[in-house]
Amino acid sequence: MPREIFKALFFPFAICLISFIWGEIFSFSAAFYLGFFVLLTHCFIQAWYTIHFLSNLQKDDLIGKKRGVGIWRDIYDQLEKKSKIWRQAVLQSEVQYNQFIQGIQASPNGLIMLDEVDHIEWCNNICRDHFRLDPFKDVGQPVTFLLRNPQFISYMQTRDFTRPLHLDYMGEQGSLMLMLQVFPYGENRKLLLSQDITILKKNESMRQDFVANVSHELRTPLTVVSGFLETLRDLKISKLDQKRYVDLMFAQTSRMMTLVEELLILTRLDSSPLTSKTTKVHIEDLFEKLILDAKSLSQDKHVIEAHRLINMDILGAESEIFSAFSNLIVNAIRYTPEGGAITFEWKADREGGAVFSVKDSGIGIAQDDIPRITERFYRVDRSRSRDTGGTGLGLAIVKHVASRHNASLKIESELSIGSTFSIHFPKDRLVEAD
Ligand code: ADP
Repeated sequence: MPREIFKALFFPFAICLISFIWGEIFSFSAAFYLGFFVLLTHCFIQAWYTIHFLSNLQKDDLIGKKRGVGIWRDIYDQLEKKSKIWRQAVLQSEVQYNQFIQGIQASPNGLIMLDEVDHIEWCNNICRDHFRLDPFKDVGQPVTFLLRNPQFISYMQTRDFTRPLHLDYMGEQGSLMLMLQVFPYGENRKLLLSQDITILKKNESMRQDFVANVSHELRTPLTVVSGFLETLRDLKISKLDQKRYVDLMFAQTSRMMTLVEELLILTRLDSSPLTSKTTKVHIEDLFEKLILDAKSLSQDKHVIEAHRLINMDILGAESEIFSAFSNLIVNAIRYTPEGGAITFEWKADREGGAVFSVKDSGIGIAQDDIPRITERFYRVDRSRSRDTGGTGLGLAIVKHVASRHNASLKIESELSIGSTFSIHFPKDRLVEAD
């Protein structure tokens, strides 16, 4: 500090001293005028520096400005040092702020910050998809003015935010189901969180449908069996009828067994990890088994042909591949009337992979049904499927097995002409057969 005082007063003192010495040696009046003139000039220069300094301060940027001399150089140096520290702090806060915003933007949930009177202060980009809000233009608007859903408006009015609110038909196409909840914070401010629960809800309803379907599938044969048991217990019937009833009960129980077995296969496929790419599935051996099973099921009622046109094996799970191939062949036999032709082939496909296809000359499938037949329990003709021992799960298993082997299931069909089901395996799932 004393150094700064010295610097500030050095020049006026020096002038006074020189004027005094000049007066002592020459004339006092000349020294007074000279000293007065130089001091006045000094004051003007200081005033100019002060004005210049103030205008620099207003420009908010002191770095690299003309610094002047004496005490002014120190003032500029000090301010420049402080300015650099502040600038660094501001930059650091900006980086932190940007990272924070990026973090929130990366969230899959919508987030709206509301002020005391429920006006939007900020919202993230997901709010565009959830509520069709514009994160720039809609800031400052009352939230209930933009989200005009009656349920939401009454939720905001009742101010009971202890429970979340479920909203259907949201988003651009009205296809989203959202779960919303408000969390109060700070001084009367609110954070509104929205979560897309469309998939969750769909899975829930699929689960409910699945349970309903399984119960329905089991109830029918159980009703039949219990009806026959009642008859056998209460009525006196001939030995021949007894045998007929027992046979019918046997057919119903084996249907239930098949259903339970297929359900177990699906559960296993759902829960087990992806199939490895190290185990070889020998197509030649598989074909032998498939031909034998197909012939025994058809009982010479169809013309069955099998062609193995490439010498390639699959890397994957043998039991799964067998179950998928066999399901397609069994379906072809079931849905092809007597005298029809069924051909299954193993050949190269256009994409460099291989395809297993099953072609039949059966009843075919309507184009509208094709996208749905791989759904669990979906049947084109329920009674026909049941009559032939179908459970409605076969193609769901095939599709599942295909996707577990990175393969895809393609279906081509024409009513009364026939169908071709093919499973396309990619190159990296194939290996030269021994
Ligand atoms: P299902 O046990 O009823 O056969 P799937 O899942 O195997 O169940 O097949 C679903 C439905 O697809 C069948 O009910 C049937 O209507 C139809 N379908 C499957 N394969 C064929 C085929 N080769 N020809 C005609 N329809 C078929």
